[in-house]
Amino acid sequence: MATGSFNPFQMAQQQFDAVAEKLGLDQATCDLLRQPNREIHFNIPIRMDDGTYKVFRGFRCQHNDARGPAKGGIRFHPHETIDTVRALSMWMTWKTAVVDIPLGGGKGGVICDPHNLSMREQEQVCRGYVRAIAPLVGPLQDVPAPDVLTTGQHMIWMLDEYEKITGMKQPGFITGKPVGSGGSLGRKEATGFGVIYTLREALKDLNIDITKTTASFQGFGNVSQHALKLYTELGGRAICVSCWDHHEQKSFTYKKASGISFDEIMSITNNFGEIDREKASGLGYEILPGGAWIEQEVDILVPAALENQVNAETAPKIAKTVKVVAEAANGPTTPEADAMFKERGIMVIPDFLANAGGVTCSYFEQVQCNMNYFWSKEEVLEKLDRKMTEAYRAVADLAKSRNVYMRDAAYMISIARVAEACKMRGWI
Ligand code: NAD
Repeated sequence: MATGSFNPFQMAQQQFDAVAEKLGLDQATCDLLRQPNREIHFNIPIRMDDGTYKVFRGFRCQHNDARGPAKGGIRFHPHETIDTVRALSMWMTWKTAVVDIPLGGGKGGVICDPHNLSMREQEQVCRGYVRAIAPLVGPLQDVPAPDVLTTGQHMIWMLDEYEKITGMKQPGFITGKPVGSGGSLGRKEATGFGVIYTLREALKDLNIDITKTTASFQGFGNVSQHALKLYTELGGRAICVSCWDHHEQKSFTYKKASGISFDEIMSITNNFGEIDREKASGLGYEILPGGAWIEQEVDILVPAALENQVNAETAPKIAKTVKVVAEAANGPTTPEADAMFKERGIMVIPDFLANAGGVTCSYFEQVQCNMNYFWSKEEVLEKLDRKMTEAYRAVADLAKSRNVYMRDAAYMISIARVAEACKMRGWI
């Protein structure tokens, strides 16, 4: 979220500007791509369970749709801001382009805390959100999905409202739906697994045997859980995860130097990705301050919580042993931390490449909905692995041949693809 002086949209624009200059983009293309094509801000009035009324603020940004309908999740978060949504919509444009799927970039958010809302109230927020954006979204315009603190249940309520408004079945309107209600097998795993497919390839490039590595994860929600699962299945040793504790209103790090068992830690984690501290202590986890995840002597760091977590203040604490940072979250690393990584030779798998597995599988979900024919989980994951590996390879090869930082190489590929699509359409 946009906290203190940190502004994710300014960061996204700063990243864009640096690469636009390298690519020699003309002024009109820069003006078009450094801000969303369209954004809407709206009120969502809700009757609460106690009979009172409350108004929530919602946003939807469509950054660019030159390569296909806008695509991007909806966050429910108490600290959501329009600048966060703008930045995330822009990163979605680069994400769909880097994995070369025929979609653009969008994002949405509602300022609310689902922890403090009943299921009925959350349903009302979902339905109100869709009523506000219905004229501007749809399978051929802009396709939402889950993000932080939203789930398949929220997606189904939103789909139901959209279908009531349009009077027809439109399963391609939204992705991240539950399996059996138009969802794709493998979608739950897709983002986290995608992170590890790219990490696996990066380790091969660095000549590092994954079975001899250790890793520390920030966050333990959907993305981090599946990333940790596949990483440990491939033989890596995860020694730390951190997560938020909404009772204490701060984060904690849970450490087991001998290696975290996925099944064990899942058994003490709730649906919000929060680990039960008392039970963790009973199971022999060391409980450390929230920031400790980044200071561990590991080979790999996986920031998988929120933006602005690896910054000028935290990056200097990174141990000398760290060789790779796999950015599972969106925007976890600030340009100041990037500069430190470049200096120290730490390899970064940039966010919009590393976590593109989610949107890639959402695209597969749309394809399956359009065909009304669903693939097996193996088929989905096999296609996902291929897409992610190809995208990683293209970025890593460009980084090597042009001797540029991985994030810049990913941007160069994405921006060039999107700029070309805009040019072909005669927009610029
Ligand atoms: P989630 O809501 O399922 O989990 C978030 C996790 O982060 C929780 O464990 C929470 O406790 C933890 N967390 C929150 N604040 C924290 C803090 N200050 N310190 C430590 N932990 C903290 O969310 P998610 O879907 O796993 O998304 C995580 C990140 O990945 C976000 O940046 C999101 O935009 C990005 N992402 C998600 C998807 C997806 O498919 N879900 C796809 C692409 C990118």
